[in-house]
Amino acid sequence: MKYVLFALLAIVVLVVLVLAVCALRAVKVKAKENTNKPAISWTKEEEDKYARVLSDMIKVSTVSKARGEDYSDFLELQKVMEKHYPNIFATLEKHDFQGNLLRLWKGSNPSKGAILLMGHQDVVPAAEKEWTRDPFSGAIEDGCIHGRGAMDCKSTLSAEWDAVEELISEGFTPEEDVWLFSSVNEEISGGGAIDAAKYLKEKGIRLNAVLDEGGAVIGNVFPGLSKPCAAVGIVEKGFCNIKFTARGKGGHASTPPKNTPIARLGKFIAEVEKTDPFKRELVTPIPEMFTAIAGHLIFPLRLVMSNLWLFKGLLAKVLPLFSPMAGAFVKTTCAFTMAQGSEAPNVIPDSASVICNMRPSVHQKAEESIDVLRQIAKKYDIETEVLLSRDPSNVGDHNGKEFRYLQKCIEEAFPDVVPIPYLMTGGTDCRQFEIVSDNCLRFTPTRLTPEQLAAMHAANESIGVSALAEGVKFYKYYIKNR
Ligand SMILES: [Zn+2]
Repeated sequence: MKYVLFALLAIVVLVVLVLAVCALRAVKVKAKENTNKPAISWTKEEEDKYARVLSDMIKVSTVSKARGEDYSDFLELQKVMEKHYPNIFATLEKHDFQGNLLRLWKGSNPSKGAILLMGHQDVVPAAEKEWTRDPFSGAIEDGCIHGRGAMDCKSTLSAEWDAVEELISEGFTPEEDVWLFSSVNEEISGGGAIDAAKYLKEKGIRLNAVLDEGGAVIGNVFPGLSKPCAAVGIVEKGFCNIKFTARGKGGHASTPPKNTPIARLGKFIAEVEKTDPFKRELVTPIPEMFTAIAGHLIFPLRLVMSNLWLFKGLLAKVLPLFSPMAGAFVKTTCAFTMAQGSEAPNVIPDSASVICNMRPSVHQKAEESIDVLRQIAKKYDIETEVLLSRDPSNVGDHNGKEFRYLQKCIEEAFPDVVPIPYLMTGGTDCRQFEIVSDNCLRFTPTRLTPEQLAAMHAANESIGVSALAEGVKFYKYYIKNR
């Protein structure tokens, strides 16, 4: 009895000690307010000028073009750009190919190497009837520029080019070479970025940093965090399309047997959704992301986020319960997106199939994740066919010089914002440049409202006029202070 009491007391003391350590760490990480003034500013005239440029670029519809397709609409867009960016067209070396823009701004010190700024020209199609305005009007109304590509990604492209145009007109020459690249087929994972990266590699060029579209400046990202976050993507999840086919005897729907192809596919899909069979883990950059925000959180959440040594395992398990996005941070995801069966309502098909779009995680790559589904499919006598498979990108260095430089620029340009390393659940062209750079960073220096974020690839895309100006000045600051 005495020993039991002693053991209980020891457990209580241990728990109190652990909690005390956690509380102490939570108190210590509390972030200081950054009360500095933003290092960037702009005038109303500049705001209007940048908005007009973006508006003109939106007016030219440039839906993605695969290799070999007619890309004349992109040449139309480039005529508009030539009008607005005379200095760039006069100064930068032209290495364009098939509508893809690749330009070189020669630096003054070749030993310093090179950087690359990216933003694609192509847009996803716009289903006009869902929009409240013409998607290609480029209307400037209510403090925003409206239209397809306003955010993804013509504002990134125009902000980068506005920044370079302005720097040239101010007589600035960078020390490093500055490359600009803009593909015509990012949205369809076309070959533009692959070809450009190969071209640079063949020329023996290494890039100190690649800065492409990515996470933006967004508020209300985490519960308990009042500040907006600037999300810098250092890794992208993989991408697979997998076809699952069930075969059986077809027949008349009036005398149905058990376990028809569609019934088996249904059971398979239900099991995948119910068991959610992928490994849940907190791997870079998610713990680092939580560490970055910990100091800004309200106390109970700060206690958890500043003690990941204790709560990491638990968080990995429970995060998917909070939101689909939180789930996507800790595991491979899969969504069943297309289905095909019989051609007629009263015919049982002899084969039926579904397509699953999977986004493999860094800790459970494509092959292993596909195998998880293959094993479940086998139970229902379903065939697995991999149509497309791509692993996650490399994981960038969140402690490296280039990440820290970008972080510093964010802190100085946006003092009210918390920079965080971030996992991109979608893909960008950026990963193609891993063959020429160890620092592929994905960040869009633009403040977006939740509504604007939700309009990505959807109806009523827009971007704020002042957010665009802030982006232009951010790129200037980034180039100038390297
Ligand atoms: Zn994009």
